[in-house]
Amino acid sequence: MTQIQIAGGGPSALACAAMLAKDGIESHVHERAPVLSPRFTNSFQVLENWTGQTPFPEQLKAAGISSDFFCKPQHSFLAYDEKMRCAEFKSKKPYWHLIRRGREPDSLDSALLKSAQHFGAQVHFSSTLPYEQTDIFATGPSSIDGSAMETSFDADLGKDICAVILGNKIAPSGGYAYILSDGGRVTLGTAITADLPNLASYHRKATSLFAREFFLKESALEKGETKASYVNFFLPKTAQENEKLYIGEAAGFQDLSLGIGLRYCIRSGMLAAQSILHNVEFDPLWKNEFLEKFKTAALLRIALEAAGERGISHFLSSPPKKDFQQYLSSLYAPSMLKNSLASIAMGAKRNKKCKHGARCEWCLQR
Ligand SMILES: Cc1cc2nc3c(=O)[nH]c(=O)nc-3n(C[C@H](O)[C@H](O)[C@H](O)COP(=O)(O)OP(=O)(O)OC[C@H]3O[C@@H](n4cnc5c(N)ncnc54)[C@H](O)[C@@H]3O)c2cc1C
Repeated sequence: MTQIQIAGGGPSALACAAMLAKDGIESHVHERAPVLSPRFTNSFQVLENWTGQTPFPEQLKAAGISSDFFCKPQHSFLAYDEKMRCAEFKSKKPYWHLIRRGREPDSLDSALLKSAQHFGAQVHFSSTLPYEQTDIFATGPSSIDGSAMETSFDADLGKDICAVILGNKIAPSGGYAYILSDGGRVTLGTAITADLPNLASYHRKATSLFAREFFLKESALEKGETKASYVNFFLPKTAQENEKLYIGEAAGFQDLSLGIGLRYCIRSGMLAAQSILHNVEFDPLWKNEFLEKFKTAALLRIALEAAGERGISHFLSSPPKKDFQQYLSSLYAPSMLKNSLASIAMGAKRNKKCKHGARCEWCLQR
Protein backbone atom coordinates (compact mmCIF):
# COMPACT_ATOMS: atom_id res chain seq x y z
CA MET A 1 0.00 0.00 0.00
CA THR A 2 1.32 3.45 -0.80
CA GLN A 3 -1.43 5.46 0.84
CA ILE A 4 -3.22 4.82 4.15
CA GLN A 5 -6.41 6.45 5.37
CA ILE A 6 -7.00 6.38 9.13
CA ALA A 7 -10.35 7.25 10.73
CA GLY A 8 -9.95 8.89 14.16
CA GLY A 9 -7.24 11.24 15.38
CA GLY A 10 -6.42 9.99 18.90
CA PRO A 11 -3.06 8.71 20.18
CA SER A 12 -3.33 5.33 18.43
CA ALA A 13 -3.97 6.97 15.03
CA LEU A 14 -1.26 9.58 15.39
CA ALA A 15 1.36 7.04 16.49
CA CYS A 16 0.44 4.80 13.56
CA ALA A 17 0.54 7.68 11.05
CA ALA A 18 3.91 8.85 12.39
CA MET A 19 5.43 5.37 11.98
CA LEU A 20 4.01 4.93 8.47
CA ALA A 21 4.97 8.41 7.26
CA LYS A 22 8.47 7.99 8.70
CA ASP A 23 8.89 5.03 6.33
CA GLY A 24 7.54 6.87 3.31
CA ILE A 25 3.89 5.79 3.28
CA GLU A 26 1.49 8.63 2.49
CA SER A 27 -0.70 8.75 5.59
CA HIS A 28 -3.93 10.63 6.17
CA VAL A 29 -5.56 10.94 9.59
CA HIS A 30 -9.22 12.01 9.62
CA GLU A 31 -10.43 13.40 12.94
CA ARG A 32 -14.16 13.97 13.18
CA ALA A 33 -13.80 16.83 15.70
CA PRO A 34 -12.58 20.28 14.68
CA VAL A 35 -9.77 20.06 17.27
CA LEU A 36 -7.15 17.69 18.61
CA SER A 37 -8.08 15.48 21.58
CA PRO A 38 -11.72 16.54 21.90
CA ARG A 39 -12.32 14.17 24.86
CA PHE A 40 -9.71 15.75 27.15
CA THR A 41 -8.91 19.32 28.16
CA ASN A 42 -5.59 19.98 29.82
CA SER A 43 -6.09 17.11 32.25
CA PHE A 44 -3.50 14.81 33.77
CA GLN A 45 -3.36 11.14 32.84
CA VAL A 46 -0.74 8.50 33.44
CA LEU A 47 1.42 6.21 31.32
CA GLU A 48 1.84 3.07 33.42
CA ASN A 49 5.20 1.34 33.73
CA TRP A 50 4.22 -2.11 34.91
CA THR A 51 3.14 -3.99 31.78
CA GLY A 52 6.43 -3.45 29.94
CA GLN A 53 10.11 -3.73 30.77
CA THR A 54 11.01 -0.33 29.35
CA PRO A 55 9.35 2.86 30.58
CA PHE A 56 6.99 3.85 27.79
CA PRO A 57 8.47 7.31 27.06
CA GLU A 58 11.78 5.55 26.32
CA GLN A 59 9.98 3.10 24.04
CA LEU A 60 8.49 6.01 22.08
CA LYS A 61 11.87 7.66 21.76
CA ALA A 62 13.46 4.42 20.55
CA ALA A 63 10.77 4.17 17.86
CA GLY A 64 11.64 7.68 16.69
CA ILE A 65 8.36 9.17 17.93
CA SER A 66 8.60 12.42 19.85
CA SER A 67 8.86 12.04 23.59
CA ASP A 68 8.98 15.82 23.86
CA PHE A 69 5.95 16.24 26.12
CA PHE A 70 5.29 16.84 29.80
CA CYS A 71 6.16 13.50 31.33
CA LYS A 72 6.98 13.26 35.00
CA PRO A 73 8.07 10.05 36.75
CA GLN A 74 6.12 9.23 39.91
CA HIS A 75 7.59 7.31 42.81
CA SER A 76 5.08 7.63 45.62
CA PHE A 77 1.38 7.12 45.82
CA LEU A 78 -1.34 7.41 48.47
CA ALA A 79 -4.29 5.01 48.56
CA TYR A 80 -7.34 5.60 50.78
CA ASP A 81 -10.35 3.52 51.64
CA GLU A 82 -13.81 5.08 52.00
CA LYS A 83 -13.10 6.03 55.60
CA MET A 84 -10.02 7.86 54.37
CA ARG A 85 -7.62 5.44 56.05
CA CYS A 86 -4.47 5.78 54.05
CA ALA A 87 -1.47 3.71 52.95
CA GLU A 88 1.56 5.06 51.13
CA PHE A 89 3.29 3.11 48.37
CA LYS A 90 6.77 3.86 47.08
CA SER A 91 8.94 2.69 44.23
CA LYS A 92 12.51 3.16 43.06
CA LYS A 93 11.65 3.02 39.38
CA PRO A 94 8.65 5.16 38.41
CA TYR A 95 5.46 3.10 38.59
CA TRP A 96 3.97 5.56 36.06
CA HIS A 97 4.66 8.84 34.31
CA LEU A 98 2.31 11.73 34.76
CA ILE A 99 1.35 13.23 31.39
CA ARG A 100 -0.98 15.89 30.11
CA ARG A 101 -3.85 15.23 27.66
CA GLY A 102 -5.49 17.82 25.46
CA ARG A 103 -4.29 20.59 23.22
CA GLU A 104 -1.64 22.29 25.37
CA PRO A 105 1.74 22.45 23.56
CA ASP A 106 3.30 20.03 26.08
CA SER A 107 0.49 17.44 26.00
CA LEU A 108 0.99 13.87 24.76
CA ASP A 109 -1.56 14.54 22.01
CA SER A 110 0.28 17.64 20.74
CA ALA A 111 3.60 15.74 20.71
CA LEU A 112 2.11 12.84 18.73
CA LEU A 113 0.48 15.28 16.29
CA LYS A 114 3.76 17.13 15.85
CA SER A 115 5.60 13.84 15.27
CA ALA A 116 3.09 12.63 12.68
CA GLN A 117 3.19 15.96 10.83
CA HIS A 118 6.97 16.14 11.09
CA PHE A 119 7.23 12.89 9.11
CA GLY A 120 4.74 14.17 6.54
CA ALA A 121 1.44 12.62 7.67
CA GLN A 122 -1.56 14.78 6.87
CA VAL A 123 -4.06 15.34 9.65
CA HIS A 124 -7.51 16.51 8.57
CA PHE A 125 -9.81 17.91 11.26
CA SER A 126 -13.62 17.97 10.95
CA SER A 127 -13.21 15.06 8.57
CA THR A 128 -14.80 11.62 8.39
CA LEU A 129 -14.34 8.78 5.94
CA PRO A 130 -16.79 6.36 4.36
CA TYR A 131 -16.25 2.75 5.50
CA GLU A 132 -14.97 1.61 2.10
CA GLN A 133 -12.23 4.26 2.02
CA THR A 134 -10.98 3.52 5.55
CA ASP A 135 -7.89 1.34 5.94
CA ILE A 136 -7.53 1.70 9.71
CA PHE A 137 -10.19 2.39 12.32
CA ALA A 138 -8.88 4.33 15.33
CA THR A 139 -12.18 5.81 16.35
CA GLY A 140 -11.96 5.18 20.10
CA PRO A 141 -14.42 3.31 22.33
CA SER A 142 -17.74 2.33 20.82
CA SER A 143 -19.63 1.12 23.89
CA ILE A 144 -19.78 2.47 27.42
CA ASP A 145 -18.46 -0.20 29.80
CA GLY A 146 -16.73 2.15 32.20
CA SER A 147 -17.24 5.84 32.64
CA ALA A 148 -15.18 8.61 34.21
CA MET A 149 -15.79 12.21 35.18
CA GLU A 150 -12.89 14.59 35.63
CA THR A 151 -12.55 18.13 36.93
CA SER A 152 -9.35 19.98 36.12
CA PHE A 153 -8.44 23.29 37.69
CA ASP A 154 -5.58 25.46 38.89
CA ALA A 155 -4.81 25.37 42.61
CA ASP A 156 -1.73 25.62 44.74
CA LEU A 157 -1.89 22.61 47.07
CA GLY A 158 1.54 23.30 48.55
CA LYS A 159 2.85 19.99 47.16
CA ASP A 160 2.28 17.65 44.22
CA ILE A 161 -0.19 14.90 45.01
CA CYS A 162 -1.02 11.53 43.54
CA ALA A 163 -3.75 9.67 45.43
CA VAL A 164 -6.73 7.36 44.96
CA ILE A 165 -9.80 6.43 46.98
CA LEU A 166 -11.06 2.86 46.61
CA GLY A 167 -14.48 1.62 47.68
CA ASN A 168 -17.96 0.93 46.35
CA LYS A 169 -19.59 3.98 47.93
CA ILE A 170 -17.17 6.30 46.14
CA ALA A 171 -16.56 4.36 42.93
CA PRO A 172 -18.54 1.14 42.58
CA SER A 173 -17.49 -2.18 41.16
CA GLY A 174 -13.73 -1.95 41.20
CA GLY A 175 -13.71 1.75 40.32
CA TYR A 176 -11.62 4.47 41.93
CA ALA A 177 -11.46 8.19 42.51
CA TYR A 178 -8.16 9.95 41.92
CA ILE A 179 -6.34 13.22 42.33
CA LEU A 180 -3.28 14.05 40.27
CA SER A 181 -1.61 17.39 40.81
CA ASP A 182 1.57 19.00 39.62
CA GLY A 183 2.86 22.55 39.56
CA GLY A 184 -0.43 24.17 40.51
CA ARG A 185 -2.61 22.16 38.11
CA VAL A 186 -5.01 19.53 39.50
CA THR A 187 -7.11 16.77 37.93
CA LEU A 188 -9.67 15.15 40.14
CA GLY A 189 -11.50 12.17 38.66
CA THR A 190 -13.94 9.36 39.40
CA ALA A 191 -13.94 6.17 37.31
CA ILE A 192 -16.72 3.60 37.69
CA THR A 193 -17.88 0.43 35.96
CA ALA A 194 -21.36 0.07 37.49
CA ASP A 195 -24.27 2.37 38.29
CA LEU A 196 -23.08 4.58 35.42
CA PRO A 197 -26.09 6.97 35.41
CA ASN A 198 -25.04 8.14 38.89
CA LEU A 199 -21.48 9.05 37.89
CA ALA A 200 -21.94 12.76 38.73
CA SER A 201 -23.10 11.96 42.24
CA TYR A 202 -20.09 9.67 42.90
CA HIS A 203 -17.83 12.38 41.52
CA ARG A 204 -19.33 14.96 43.91
CA LYS A 205 -18.73 12.61 46.87
CA ALA A 206 -15.14 11.94 45.86
CA THR A 207 -14.51 15.64 45.27
CA SER A 208 -15.68 16.57 48.75
CA LEU A 209 -13.49 13.86 50.35
CA PHE A 210 -10.43 15.04 48.44
CA ALA A 211 -11.29 18.68 49.17
CA ARG A 212 -11.33 17.96 52.90
CA GLU A 213 -8.16 15.86 52.82
CA PHE A 214 -6.08 18.25 50.72
CA PHE A 215 -7.67 21.59 51.70
CA LEU A 216 -8.99 22.34 48.23
CA LYS A 217 -10.71 25.70 48.03
CA GLU A 218 -14.30 25.86 46.81
CA SER A 219 -13.37 28.88 44.66
CA ALA A 220 -10.68 26.89 42.80
CA LEU A 221 -13.02 23.95 42.23
CA GLU A 222 -15.75 26.23 40.91
CA LYS A 223 -13.41 27.50 38.19
CA GLY A 224 -12.61 23.93 37.12
CA GLU A 225 -13.70 22.36 33.87
CA THR A 226 -15.61 19.09 34.27
CA LYS A 227 -15.88 16.49 31.51
CA ALA A 228 -17.22 12.95 31.41
CA SER A 229 -16.09 10.26 29.02
CA TYR A 230 -15.97 6.50 28.75
CA VAL A 231 -13.96 3.39 27.94
CA ASN A 232 -14.92 0.03 26.47
CA PHE A 233 -13.87 -3.26 28.03
CA PHE A 234 -13.81 -6.32 25.83
CA LEU A 235 -11.41 -9.02 24.84
CA PRO A 236 -10.83 -8.81 21.09
CA LYS A 237 -10.87 -11.98 19.02
CA THR A 238 -9.39 -10.20 16.03
CA ALA A 239 -8.46 -6.65 15.06
CA GLN A 240 -8.87 -7.25 11.35
CA GLU A 241 -12.08 -7.33 9.34
CA ASN A 242 -12.52 -7.17 5.56
CA GLU A 243 -8.85 -6.23 5.17
CA LYS A 244 -9.32 -3.27 7.50
CA LEU A 245 -7.36 -2.90 10.73
CA TYR A 246 -8.64 -1.72 14.12
CA ILE A 247 -6.31 -0.05 16.60
CA GLY A 248 -6.55 1.56 20.04
CA GLU A 249 -9.81 1.38 21.89
CA ALA A 250 -11.72 0.83 18.64
CA ALA A 251 -10.08 -2.60 18.61
CA GLY A 252 -10.80 -3.22 22.30
CA PHE A 253 -7.17 -2.53 23.25
CA GLN A 254 -7.63 -1.30 26.78
CA ASP A 255 -6.41 -2.18 30.24
CA LEU A 256 -9.31 -4.27 31.48
CA SER A 257 -8.39 -3.81 35.14
CA LEU A 258 -8.16 -0.02 35.54
CA GLY A 259 -8.96 1.48 32.14
CA ILE A 260 -5.52 3.03 31.74
CA GLY A 261 -4.82 1.60 28.32
CA LEU A 262 -2.94 4.40 26.56
CA ARG A 263 0.15 2.27 26.36
CA TYR A 264 -1.73 -0.47 24.49
CA CYS A 265 -3.41 2.12 22.24
CA ILE A 266 -0.20 3.78 21.13
CA ARG A 267 1.66 0.51 20.82
CA SER A 268 -1.17 -0.98 18.73
CA GLY A 269 -0.80 1.95 16.29
CA MET A 270 2.90 1.18 16.03
CA LEU A 271 2.24 -2.55 15.49
CA ALA A 272 -0.37 -1.83 12.80
CA ALA A 273 2.21 0.31 11.00
CA GLN A 274 4.70 -2.55 11.31
CA SER A 275 2.19 -5.00 9.83
CA ILE A 276 1.64 -2.70 6.82
CA LEU A 277 5.31 -1.87 6.33
CA HIS A 278 6.41 -5.51 6.49
CA ASN A 279 3.30 -6.92 4.85
CA VAL A 280 2.54 -9.28 7.75
CA GLU A 281 -0.76 -10.07 9.48
CA PHE A 282 -1.67 -7.68 12.30
CA ASP A 283 -3.47 -10.20 14.55
CA PRO A 284 -0.41 -12.33 15.41
CA LEU A 285 1.59 -9.18 16.21
CA TRP A 286 -0.80 -7.75 18.79
CA LYS A 287 -1.80 -11.15 20.16
CA ASN A 288 1.82 -11.99 20.81
CA GLU A 289 2.35 -8.74 22.72
CA PHE A 290 -1.02 -8.11 24.40
CA LEU A 291 -3.29 -11.12 24.68
CA GLU A 292 -1.94 -12.76 27.83
CA LYS A 293 -1.69 -9.35 29.49
CA PHE A 294 -5.33 -8.63 28.64
CA LYS A 295 -6.37 -11.91 30.26
CA THR A 296 -4.34 -11.17 33.40
CA ALA A 297 -5.90 -7.71 33.59
CA ALA A 298 -9.38 -9.23 33.18
CA LEU A 299 -8.65 -11.54 36.10
CA LEU A 300 -7.55 -8.55 38.20
CA ARG A 301 -10.75 -6.71 37.26
CA ILE A 302 -12.86 -9.61 38.47
CA ALA A 303 -10.81 -9.70 41.70
CA LEU A 304 -11.20 -5.92 42.16
CA GLU A 305 -14.95 -6.16 41.73
CA ALA A 306 -15.10 -8.98 44.25
CA ALA A 307 -12.81 -7.28 46.79
CA GLY A 308 -15.47 -5.10 48.46
CA GLU A 309 -14.89 -2.72 51.34
CA ARG A 310 -13.34 -5.41 53.57
CA GLY A 311 -10.88 -6.56 50.93
CA ILE A 312 -9.78 -2.99 50.24
CA SER A 313 -9.38 -2.11 53.93
CA HIS A 314 -7.45 -5.32 54.53
CA PHE A 315 -5.15 -4.54 51.59
CA LEU A 316 -4.52 -1.01 52.85
CA SER A 317 -3.98 -2.05 56.47
CA SER A 318 -1.30 -4.57 55.47
CA PRO A 319 0.08 -3.20 52.20
CA PRO A 320 2.69 -5.19 50.27
CA LYS A 321 6.21 -4.54 51.55
CA LYS A 322 7.64 -4.86 48.06
CA ASP A 323 8.67 -1.88 45.95
CA PHE A 324 5.39 -0.64 44.42
CA GLN A 325 6.50 -0.74 40.77
CA GLN A 326 7.89 -4.25 41.23
CA TYR A 327 4.73 -5.30 43.05
CA LEU A 328 2.53 -4.08 40.17
CA SER A 329 4.83 -5.65 37.57
CA SER A 330 4.55 -9.04 39.26
CA LEU A 331 0.79 -8.65 39.75
CA TYR A 332 0.34 -7.92 36.04
CA ALA A 333 2.88 -10.45 34.77
CA PRO A 334 1.02 -13.18 32.88
CA SER A 335 1.55 -16.79 33.97
CA MET A 336 0.03 -20.18 33.16
CA LEU A 337 -1.81 -20.17 36.47
CA LYS A 338 -3.27 -16.68 35.91
CA ASN A 339 -4.20 -17.64 32.36
CA SER A 340 -6.10 -20.71 33.56
CA LEU A 341 -7.78 -18.78 36.38
CA ALA A 342 -8.70 -16.03 33.90
CA SER A 343 -10.34 -18.56 31.57
CA ILE A 344 -12.38 -20.01 34.44
CA ALA A 345 -13.34 -16.59 35.83
CA MET A 346 -14.19 -15.22 32.38
CA GLY A 347 -16.33 -18.27 31.67
CA ALA A 348 -18.27 -17.68 34.88
CA LYS A 349 -18.68 -13.98 34.12
CA ARG A 350 -19.57 -14.34 30.45
CA ASN A 351 -22.34 -12.01 29.38
CA LYS A 352 -24.80 -13.46 26.93
CA LYS A 353 -25.98 -10.03 25.81
CA CYS A 354 -22.61 -8.92 24.47
CA LYS A 355 -22.82 -5.54 22.74
CA HIS A 356 -19.38 -5.64 21.22
CA GLY A 357 -20.14 -7.66 18.11
CA ALA A 358 -18.25 -10.40 16.36
CA ARG A 359 -14.80 -9.13 17.35
CA CYS A 360 -15.42 -9.80 21.07
CA GLU A 361 -14.03 -12.98 22.60
CA TRP A 362 -15.54 -12.42 26.01
CA CYS A 363 -17.74 -9.73 27.35
CA LEU A 364 -17.35 -7.66 30.47
CA GLN A 365 -20.38 -5.52 29.68
CA ARG A 366 -22.71 -5.55 32.70
C1 LIG B 1 -11.56 10.17 31.84
C2 LIG B 1 -10.55 9.20 31.30
C3 LIG B 1 -9.29 9.13 31.89
C4 LIG B 1 -8.34 8.25 31.38
N1 LIG B 1 -7.12 8.18 31.98
C5 LIG B 1 -6.17 7.37 31.48
C6 LIG B 1 -4.89 7.31 32.06
O1 LIG B 1 -4.59 8.00 33.04
N2 LIG B 1 -3.97 6.47 31.51
C7 LIG B 1 -4.25 5.70 30.42
O2 LIG B 1 -3.37 4.94 29.98
N3 LIG B 1 -5.47 5.74 29.83
C8 LIG B 1 -6.43 6.56 30.33
N4 LIG B 1 -7.65 6.61 29.74
C9 LIG B 1 -7.88 5.82 28.52
C10 LIG B 1 -7.26 6.55 27.31
O3 LIG B 1 -7.60 7.90 27.33
C11 LIG B 1 -7.76 5.91 26.04
O4 LIG B 1 -7.50 4.53 26.12
C12 LIG B 1 -7.08 6.49 24.80
O5 LIG B 1 -7.33 7.86 24.65
C13 LIG B 1 -7.62 5.78 23.58
O6 LIG B 1 -6.92 6.24 22.46
P1 LIG B 1 -7.51 5.93 21.00
O7 LIG B 1 -6.57 6.52 20.04
O8 LIG B 1 -7.83 4.51 20.88
O9 LIG B 1 -8.93 6.67 20.98
P2 LIG B 1 -9.39 8.14 21.36
O10 LIG B 1 -8.40 8.82 22.22
O11 LIG B 1 -10.77 7.99 21.88
O12 LIG B 1 -9.42 8.87 19.98
C14 LIG B 1 -10.37 8.53 19.00
C15 LIG B 1 -10.63 9.75 18.16
O13 LIG B 1 -11.42 9.37 17.04
C16 LIG B 1 -12.36 10.39 16.78
N5 LIG B 1 -13.46 9.75 16.05
C17 LIG B 1 -14.43 8.95 16.54
N6 LIG B 1 -15.21 8.50 15.54
C18 LIG B 1 -14.72 9.02 14.40
C19 LIG B 1 -15.07 8.91 13.03
N7 LIG B 1 -16.09 8.15 12.64
N8 LIG B 1 -14.33 9.56 12.11
C20 LIG B 1 -13.28 10.33 12.49
N9 LIG B 1 -12.89 10.48 13.78
C21 LIG B 1 -13.60 9.82 14.72
C22 LIG B 1 -12.73 10.92 18.14
O14 LIG B 1 -13.20 12.25 18.05
C23 LIG B 1 -11.40 10.83 18.89
O15 LIG B 1 -10.67 12.03 18.82
C24 LIG B 1 -8.64 7.45 30.25
C25 LIG B 1 -9.91 7.51 29.66
C26 LIG B 1 -10.85 8.37 30.18
C27 LIG B 1 -12.20 8.43 29.53
